Amino acid sequence: MGIQFKPRSLASFQRRLLGWFRKHSRDLPWRASRDPYRVWVAEIMLQQTRIAAVMPYYERFLQHFPDVRSLADAREEKVLQLWSGLGYYSRARNLHRATKEVVARHGGDFPGTLEETLALPGIGSYTAAAVLSIAKDVPLSVLDGNVARVLARLCAIRGDLRAPRRWRQLQKIAEKLLAQKAPGDWNQALMELGETICTPQTPRCEVCPVSRWCRAYSLGLTREIPAPRKRRAPVKIRVAAAILRDPQGRTILVRDPGAHDDVLFSRMWQFPAVEVARDPAAELAAHLEKILNINAGGLELKALPAARHGVTFRNITLLPFVAQVSRLPRRPRTRVLSIRDLSDLPVSSATKKIAAALSQP
Ligand code: SF4
Repeated sequence: MGIQFKPRSLASFQRRLLGWFRKHSRDLPWRASRDPYRVWVAEIMLQQTRIAAVMPYYERFLQHFPDVRSLADAREEKVLQLWSGLGYYSRARNLHRATKEVVARHGGDFPGTLEETLALPGIGSYTAAAVLSIAKDVPLSVLDGNVARVLARLCAIRGDLRAPRRWRQLQKIAEKLLAQKAPGDWNQALMELGETICTPQTPRCEVCPVSRWCRAYSLGLTREIPAPRKRRAPVKIRVAAAILRDPQGRTILVRDPGAHDDVLFSRMWQFPAVEVARDPAAELAAHLEKILNINAGGLELKALPAARHGVTFRNITLLPFVAQVSRLPRRPRTRVLSIRDLSDLPVSSATKKIAAALSQP
């Protein structure tokens, strides 16, 4: 079932939502300018991350890299360091690579067409439509989870919204409803409505500017739409990590091809770590012997408080251990540094949690 608006009704629906957005939209830092680069960075940071979490990172990132060229010229290590804690580091790596392409192929200007934009690393159809519509008024509609929920309620579409057929149906509806003359504001208005009023659990229909057009509201179906998503059963994983300390208070970090390097440590500097089953200390010692050539028998690994870490469907328990060593090994792809200087390096939040266990009672 699609939304059936007659032209006049569609125009008044658009006027109403745009008017509401222009009056009530939140004052977010990325809305201060239509510079494509600033919009782009915001859209990438906001993928799978809450607005409140993004804000401080966004400001700091733009202070260091105020434009495409400054980011393109930066070292990857610096980019990852400023992203550190925001998670999903492939976003930062792709953004960095994409700015280099924008400089090399487009003279530093963000491309103006969908095709060229989609050719950049890390940019899918949602991000391309968002940046092009907001920064360049290209009439493209966006569809993400928020917008899909709003549209599904407006049109009383039941079932799993992510099912391919339904998603395509929602895309068509989004295209039909798009306010061609103000695509950027329109897309942001739908997102804003989904984030602030038409929320997943308790939509505030009584203050919704478009309740008059909403079928789910008139049919009393707002709580049934969208249908809850089927979630993958969580997988429990235990990862033991070693903080080796020398008499100078230094430790060693690795680029470890070991446990869950990608999802947990995002291919950044990390403590040596390995997924464990029965005997974490013994398995970790064997891992240290393998990757650092440390004599496992002579190592006294002391357990520190465990920490929980969730990555998508993985329910990870981090088991940090500390061990005093007389000398830290020197190996390729390792880094020796004072634990206090850890924040100078790009490290994932899992690594920070492991380091924090040192200062816990
Ligand atoms: S009336 Fe309620 S369910 Fe419908 S769009 Fe507004 S907030 Fe969402």
